[in-house]
Amino acid sequence: MLFLLTLFYFILGFVNIYFAYLAFLCMTIPFIVLVIKKKNLWCKGLCPRKSYLNLFRNINLGLKAPKWLYSKQTISNVLTYFCINIFFIVFSTIMVSNGRIAPIEKIRLFIVFQLPWDIPQLIQFSFQSETLTHLAFRLYSIMLSSTLLGTIVAVLFKPSNWCVICPVKTLSNRYLFKSS
Ligand code: SF4
Repeated sequence: MLFLLTLFYFILGFVNIYFAYLAFLCMTIPFIVLVIKKKNLWCKGLCPRKSYLNLFRNINLGLKAPKWLYSKQTISNVLTYFCINIFFIVFSTIMVSNGRIAPIEKIRLFIVFQLPWDIPQLIQFSFQSETLTHLAFRLYSIMLSSTLLGTIVAVLFKPSNWCVICPVKTLSNRYLFKSS
């Protein structure tokens, strides 16, 4: 049932993009649990994305995953990609707040592929601002991009393949290795 959280997250973006701020929970809770419990309990049964990807366990092409997908280099590249993405999010939000660039109030997949259409916004909040809206769209974009990437991997191979290269798991493993 956890998969519903993943689906609700993206649906809520159509109600108001500010619900994209819930991404901060997805980005922090796994590590809070990790630091408190000293175990990766998140990946063992709390992760909504894993629950969502498991929807494809019976509807995937079942191709044999290439070795490079599991390689240390790929795991490192995926982590680097997400770090660069986070950097762009923070940097561009600072630039918008300083009036140096215009806010991007569109969804961009994988940093560069901007969707040409606007998503509906059913409600508006009184505190909305250009900077906060820009950040909300960027958070929604990174969440959608990573979910799409995971979905592609799950459909081509099998759902658990995404977990091999997932940045949350990579960082968790590094933390556990250093603290052991
Ligand atoms: S590896 Fe990533 S997708 Fe898989 S369970 Fe852990 S956090 Fe979720």
